[in-house]
Amino acid sequence: MQNINEIDELIRLISKLPGLGPKSAKRIVLKLINSRDELIKPLVKTLAEVYKNISRCKICGSLKANSIECDYSNCKIIGKKYEKICVVENISDQWSIESSNIYKGYFHILGGTISSAGQKKEDLLINSLVERVKKDKIEEVILATSATVEGQTTAYYIQDSLKNLNIKITKLAQGLPVGGEIESLDDGTLISAFKNRSKLNSSSD
Ligand SMILES: [Zn+2]
Repeated sequence: MQNINEIDELIRLISKLPGLGPKSAKRIVLKLINSRDELIKPLVKTLAEVYKNISRCKICGSLKANSIECDYSNCKIIGKKYEKICVVENISDQWSIESSNIYKGYFHILGGTISSAGQKKEDLLINSLVERVKKDKIEEVILATSATVEGQTTAYYIQDSLKNLNIKITKLAQGLPVGGEIESLDDGTLISAFKNRSKLNSSSD
């Protein structure tokens, strides 16, 4: 292929997407170029709209339209009040937990871990989690971070941030495979990790 800067740049960007390397990025770019009107045009328009209108909620960490206030809509059932918040690293973790049907309650999406590259503690919405726990009279915080060093460091940091509140803090059971990321667990493992979650602090039940 001759070197065309625009194409090289597009291949470089697409190969940064999860699961794609330079080879599949090239295939995607060729497909796009051959489908200018069916793909490139609507893609450019939709990407611009998403960039302009959608962002991560600074309260619960979910994705939302900029025009609406946070309503914890990631918790789906409107008007339902829960006493539990499940803290996860990413939205894909929330989706896995939801599809396993083991948990009914609010979610709080950190957007990474303390040690993720370039991740600042302030970006992880931990202060906002503490505020939500107080405001929504939460009784249990379930730490569902990955069984990686980063995930566990983050869980410990959150536990410490919540220590002055009289709530139950639990962590998914040890049965999680080491290095296991929540989103990649099968339903059975996830259900058992929730059922056997362990209590981390000594406050009221
Ligand atoms: Zn929100």
